[in-house]
Amino acid sequence: MLLGPPGAGKGTQARILRDRCGIPQIASGDLLRAAVMEKTALGVEASSYMDRGQLVPDDLVLRLIAERIAREDARVGFILDGFPRSVKQAEALALMIGAQGVALDKVVAVNVPDEELVKRISGRRTCAKCQAMYHVVFEPPRVAGVCDKCGGELYQREDDAEETVRERLKVYAETTRPLIEHYGRIGILSQIDGLGTPDEVERRLLGALDGLVRAKRA
Ligand code: ADP
Ligand code: ADP
Ligand code: ZN
Repeated sequence: MLLGPPGAGKGTQARILRDRCGIPQIASGDLLRAAVMEKTALGVEASSYMDRGQLVPDDLVLRLIAERIAREDARVGFILDGFPRSVKQAEALALMIGAQGVALDKVVAVNVPDEELVKRISGRRTCAKCQAMYHVVFEPPRVAGVCDKCGGELYQREDDAEETVRERLKVYAETTRPLIEHYGRIGILSQIDGLGTPDEVERRLLGALDGLVRAKRA
């Protein structure tokens, strides 16, 4: 599981890891945004929280995660990105996967100072089609506004507006950051520096995973 504040690079690293190891990335934010886009009842309810930068109620998020983890491709393992986001969600997750004899192998907390988070989030662009992440300055696409990977249209998330970002950082500090201590106590936590290029961060991440992941055979 990748743990960190909004803009820390969780999604970017989770995707690199997914492509390297061939195990799925499960991002609660992506699942929620898909539900919002499809205008499901769950999506409609979730969007009012997301627009304000607040956490979506646990029962909604847990329902999406349970469905996703139950899918065939997650039987080889999975990379959690953005979930759990509170000690309560962590406990619910442990029960959910514990029932199948599964537990989290490792939690890696990605540390990035607030001023850098704000820079990263304000330039973030997301592909509407494949959810790939770009940054107007740090990771620009080859053609402005167009996804390198699938040709999809790049958009700026509404909750990446400055005021909402401040609220999300506050929610992180109050509700999510306590997970560092929680997983530290369980003994599966590593912390890495999230500054530097994505390649540099990836190297630190692989170091923290220490042989846990094996490169996908070609
Ligand atoms: P970021 O990548 O910037 O941290 P996410 O895409 O993970 O943002 O989340 C966007 C929004 O979706 C959050 O601000 C929150 O409203 C909602 N959300 C995502 N994951 C969760 C979760 N595990 N629990 C509750 N709300 C969530
Ligand atoms: P999170 O999922 O933690 O919210 P993202 O992976 O979406 O974070 O990254 C936030 C923004 O920062 C994106 O625009 C992404 O392209 C950019 N980014 C990710 N990693 C780095 C990095 N190491 N250096 C600079 N920018 C980065
Ligand atoms: Zn794309």
